[in-house]
Amino acid sequence: MTSKSSEQVTVAGAGAFGLCIALALARRGLSVVVRDPASFGDNASGVAAGMLAPVFETALDPAATDTFGLLMAARDLWPALADSIGIDLDRSGAAYYGAHIGKVAARLRALGVSSGIYGDRVYTREDWRLSPGVAMAALRVAAVQAGVTLATSEVNSLPDSGLLILATGAEGAGLAPELGLLTPIKGHILRLEGGPDIGPVMRGDGVYVCPDPAGAVVGATMEHGVADRMVDAARVAGLRLAAEALLPELADLKATAFTGVRAATPDGLPMVGWSRRPGVLLAVGARRNGWLLAPLVARAVAAYVAGEDPGPYAARLDPRRFDNKETGA
Ligand SMILES: Cc1cc2nc3c(=O)[nH]c(=O)nc-3n(C[C@H](O)[C@H](O)[C@H](O)COP(=O)(O)OP(=O)(O)OC[C@H]3O[C@@H](n4cnc5c(N)ncnc54)[C@H](O)[C@@H]3O)c2cc1C
Repeated sequence: MTSKSSEQVTVAGAGAFGLCIALALARRGLSVVVRDPASFGDNASGVAAGMLAPVFETALDPAATDTFGLLMAARDLWPALADSIGIDLDRSGAAYYGAHIGKVAARLRALGVSSGIYGDRVYTREDWRLSPGVAMAALRVAAVQAGVTLATSEVNSLPDSGLLILATGAEGAGLAPELGLLTPIKGHILRLEGGPDIGPVMRGDGVYVCPDPAGAVVGATMEHGVADRMVDAARVAGLRLAAEALLPELADLKATAFTGVRAATPDGLPMVGWSRRPGVLLAVGARRNGWLLAPLVARAVAAYVAGEDPGPYAARLDPRRFDNKETGA
């Protein structure tokens, strides 16, 4: 199935996936409307830490399998996208400090990335970061400049004509049978105000601290199966303790807690490709690397829409890889 350039494409969801997809399609000359009922940035993309971290996400995420090549390919699409929407990427790298330094250093060497051990830390330049708030705003501006219409409304059914692309994060159940495969993973994240310069992103065991113009960002819990967005004081206290163990100079800084809900497929990779529901393309299940993956997902979706080759990672992301699984829908 392909879409003619005169046909309207509806994108449901204005998170990292939906906005990158809309921009890619509009830049190819398609008529695109993005619909989302949430206020700007009130989604997983808006609260995220913004790490573009193929190296440590492979080395530290217990669920990571053979995904390093895919994550690196996604990261390598960011410089051109960032340039085109006028945002800076923080390319100062990331370091790990924790109980498993020997293992983590060995893992990085096995991945073949440039890295080094400095004192009690292992450091790589290969993990980058963006500011999600800045990136969301810039993507919206670039999308509108490219001709995209942004509408504050929910998609409840198939549009009367044209193609529907679901980039609905952890929501949208009922719009396509495959969405029944998604599991929510709630995450708490803290924004600390002020404090010293903490250097590059610091990763620990179950916690990370990112530098931020206003202070630091501390993340993030992984609460499997939880979809509410209530702030839980015990989770906040746990994150604070973990962050202070990593960087004691963060003690006593004022913290504000936020939550977001990620969506995860059974294998941790997104579903990108045609739904079993005719006329519907899926771009969901970003789990904890939605910002990192967004340009690669947008490129694949744009190729599907145009009837082109969706690229070397299409089979890894194809929703049909779960066809023998119960979708619950
Ligand atoms: C605490 C935390 C920290 C994170 N840190 C990082 C990080 O450092 N790096 C990284 O790469 N990723 C990170 N992530 C993951 C990343 O945020 C997500 O993977 C990514 O933002 C998902 O983007 P999305 O566009 O798929 O979904 P979302 O950002 O959730 O957007 C989906 C949108 O769809 C809308 N929607 C839902 N239903 C409908 C409907 N029926 N009609 C219209 N619109 C609808 C919603 O309102 C929402 O705005 C983090 C996530 C969390 C929670």
